[in-house]
This record gives sequence, C-alpha cells and structure tokens, in this order.
Amino acid sequence: MLNFTVGPVQSSETVREIGSHQVPYFRTAEFSDVMFENEALVKKFAKAPEGSRVVFITGSGSASMEASIMNTLTSADKVLVVNGGSFGHRFVELLQLHQVPFEEIALEAGTPLAANHLAPFENKGFTAFVVNMHETSTGILYDMDMISAFCKRNDLFLIVDCISSFLADPFDMGALGADVMITGSQKALACPPGISVMVLSPRALERVSKTRCVCQYLDLQIALRNAERGQTPWTPAVGTLLQINARLKEIDAAGGVEKEIARTAHLARYFRDRIKAFPFKEFSCSPSNAVTALCPTTVSANDLFLKLKDEYGIWICPNGGDLKEKVFRVGHIGCLTEKDYDCLLAAFADLQKKGFI
Ligand SMILES: *Cc1c(COP(=O)(O)O)cnc(C)c1O
Repeated sequence: MLNFTVGPVQSSETVREIGSHQVPYFRTAEFSDVMFENEALVKKFAKAPEGSRVVFITGSGSASMEASIMNTLTSADKVLVVNGGSFGHRFVELLQLHQVPFEEIALEAGTPLAANHLAPFENKGFTAFVVNMHETSTGILYDMDMISAFCKRNDLFLIVDCISSFLADPFDMGALGADVMITGSQKALACPPGISVMVLSPRALERVSKTRCVCQYLDLQIALRNAERGQTPWTPAVGTLLQINARLKEIDAAGGVEKEIARTAHLARYFRDRIKAFPFKEFSCSPSNAVTALCPTTVSANDLFLKLKDEYGIWICPNGGDLKEKVFRVGHIGCLTEKDYDCLLAAFADLQKKGFI
C-alpha cells in the first residue's frame, strides 16, 4: 500500500516498531518524563510563547476542536469564524451547539481569505477569532499574518486549528499571537490516530481557569492539573503518545521543525512540478505544503480514487459532499519520498495510456 491521503498517513520505521510492543502501564515517573518531553518539543516546534502549556487529549483532532470551544469561549463572547470547507463548517456547528454567539465568513470552497472579507468586521465588538489555518478539505492555506494583524488590532482571542499544517507549514504561535493551537497525531505527526494536542497561551490558560466546562472528559482544568505531573486524568492512548515521543525526537535530531517543513515543501513542489503533465487542474491557488487538491478534467475524481486503490494499491485522498466527483487530494505529509511520487506519477501515466484519464 502506498498512502497519499491526509491522515492517517505513513509512519516511519521507528514509529511502527514501537507499535509492535506491549503497551506499558502509565502511572509511572517514566511515562511522566515522556509526557514532559512531548510537551517541551511541541512547544518548541509551535514556537509557543513563554508560559504556554500543552494538553494531550485522547480523541481525534475534532475532540480538541470541541475542547477549545467548550473551555475558552462562553455565551459572553462574540466570535468570528472562517468557514471555507468541511473543517470550518465543523467549527460553525460547534459554536452553534455550545451556544457561543458568532458570525461566519463563508468562503466559496478553494477561495483564499482576503482583506475585504475581514474589513466589515473591524471594531464590531468581536472577542474571538476561530480558523483552520489549512482548510484540509480544499487544500487552501489561509494568510495567518493577515489574520493575526486583524486579531491584534481588534484584541481578539485567536484559536487556530493547525491539525494538518503543524510541521508542514510555517507557524509561529508567539509572533502570531495565537492563543490556542491544535494538532492531531495522524497528520504530519505521522503517528496512528488517537491523540490530539492543544497548546494554550497564558491568555488561553486564563480563560480556561474561568470557564466551566460541562463535559468532564474534555475539561481542560482537570487535564492541566494532571499535566503538572506529566499525567492525563484518564487512560490516554499510551502507545500513540510513546510513538509521538519518538517522532518528535526524530524531527528534533534531524534539524527541527524548519527542516521538517522544508522536507514537506520540497515533496509538494516535486509533485506539483510533475503533475502539470496530466489533465488535472489545481483547485486551490494558495495551497498548503501538506496537500495538493486537484480537479481531473476528463474523469470523476472519485472514480480515479477507486481505480488507484483497487488496481494499483495506491491511496489518494477522496473528497466528500459537493466535491466528491470534482476534487481529489494528494498528501505530502507522513513518511513519503520522491520515489513514492514517481510511483504515483507512473500510475497516472499508465492510466493515461489506457485512456482512463
Ligand atoms: C483532519 C482535520 C481535522 C479533524 O481531525 P479528526 O482527527 O478527523 O477529528 C480538523 N481540522 C483539520 C484542518 C483537519 O485537517
């Protein structure tokens, strides 16, 4: 199997080897040390401001999306949320569910957020801004510098879903003034699914301490109390946390977050340069390094996904909803090499020869 989806993605040999071991008991000093190391490396790679803390939630990325809304926002807030695809839509639904007042900037799929989208909301009494830095469903990467400047001007609390962009696109939590950064184990962290990670700025910690969360499992006050001793309140996905530890150390030893981002950017470029030879149009004009979204001009995107899966053992990433027949995505995160892309390109060439595309 060759996996170019956007998660779960392919894991390194080291990460997979850890998955073959027995899962250890975790209320130990040794496991706490692993968790402290995970916290330090996540903060380093996110460029978290002084005084930030990290929470590891057992649950996929969506669990941390919901935890961020439940623990840092209330009915006293007025939130501006960017909805440019299925992950932006998820935030909209969460704000509705948790009865947090909001206004939505609805973008047509694949369209960048521009200054004119933000302009009507200047000085309008907003308190918070919620965005998916990379809207993975369309491949678009939002202009975080523009968003950050808007938030600073308007003194907004900033929640950033970096689930698919952490370790793939440059992100400086401190410089951007972001208050909550979210990621997940099965995207560029390239581990099995099961853990999501939140980095909380001092301002976020302040909000958490004042907010009553009506879900015990996702209560960040409880999580933060336990994290002081390197523990989680409930049994976490212990094995995945050990794999995350190995992966973070792997990245650190190989030159750190900049190197890892450069490696991903290189693969994205390698693929984008070569895919031009095929009858596909790029769907997003400012794509993340994590994924390339393409529109086939001669075949249904979903048929192409099925064909590659069933006949070549290659997984590209299908889209859902309105984009199902129109768009497919090719990921650049996880343990992938130029050779893997050569393999995919050879499959496209074969399909072209056979007249399928
Ligand atoms: C994958 C993803 C999510 C959702 O994560 P799950 O792990 O499937 O819950 C949320 N936001 C973005 C931007 C993502 O890429």
